Amino acid sequence: MGQHRPLCILGSGAAGYTAAIYAARANLPPLLFSGSLPGGQLTITTDVENYPGFADVIQGPWLMEQMKQQAQHVGTTIIPETIVQVDLRASPKILVGDSGETYTADAVIIATGAQAKWLGIPGEEAFMGQGVSACATCDGSFFKDVPVAVIGGGNTAVEEALYLTNHASHITLIHRRDQLRAEKILQDRLLAHPKISVLWNHGTEEILGSQVGVTGLKLRDLNTGKEKILEVEGVFVAIGHKPATDMFQEQLPKDDYGYLLHHPNSSKTDVTGVFVAGDVCDPVYRQAITAAGMGCMAALDAVHYCQSLPQKKP
Ligand code: NDP
Repeated sequence: MGQHRPLCILGSGAAGYTAAIYAARANLPPLLFSGSLPGGQLTITTDVENYPGFADVIQGPWLMEQMKQQAQHVGTTIIPETIVQVDLRASPKILVGDSGETYTADAVIIATGAQAKWLGIPGEEAFMGQGVSACATCDGSFFKDVPVAVIGGGNTAVEEALYLTNHASHITLIHRRDQLRAEKILQDRLLAHPKISVLWNHGTEEILGSQVGVTGLKLRDLNTGKEKILEVEGVFVAIGHKPATDMFQEQLPKDDYGYLLHHPNSSKTDVTGVFVAGDVCDPVYRQAITAAGMGCMAALDAVHYCQSLPQKKP
């Protein structure tokens, strides 16, 4: 069996790095596996102006590099591997990396995050960060007094549209059906808002733009087949998120959307010694700062757990 550490952390987003900083400073220096997107979702964003502590706008990749270095300075060992197989019920817990290396741990913090789902249409990738976003709370303020669109019909889409009323001049919610999936109370607020209109039964075929960024959307009426061009400067894709939890099938309880479940007011899961933090267990808030907070909670819970284990004789 390979390397053993009291604590291993899966994931290198805000949750994983914060958990590592707190654990290392509590004399539990962890192994942190950075996974397939080292630094997590913030490394694919640009301007960040809502992470407290920075008066000026900072860059997402820079923030994550700072977190990484802070975690290393206090004693975290970062392994550039993706864990591909786990046995969380074994004692100690077993983790297998994509190099084939096996690691064991008394406690594991899972902070593997989630990824926004994308439409996969022309223009989406090209204008990412230049008008295309999957987070209104993060990017909404860059669209002051200009028209924007939100795509989707669930709670996220409706909440994004409502949030954007604080900034944009007008919001068009584009939905592929004639019925929203969002909760009734959110629907009522959406439909009553003077700055929001809904385009029902429309598919989005292309995001149009120029050197200055997004300029519009090419839409298709799914009933009549008619094409429509909608002029907008921002597009918020809100068609759901996918938490990175496939590997925990049959090992940890999940909700209907695949998010890992944890005990109330705690990062503990149903499996002793396994803790969760960040977007992998949070379908609601999904912010860097909430993920960091949950990483701190998971580290405190893991440290407490490790201290409660019988001490091994040297
Ligand atoms: P949902 O899966 O609920 O909704 C996704 C929406 O996107 C659906 O309306 C779906 O359309 C649409 N969609 C999916 N794929 C495409 C596509 N390729 N093209 C166009 N439209 C598409 O995801 P949410 O992120 O909204 O919510 C996920 C979970 O998080 C839910 O449980 C939700 O309740 C929860 N949540 C709770 C919040 C809260 O409590 N405040 C806030 C946000 C989320 P269709 O309806 O046709 O399938």
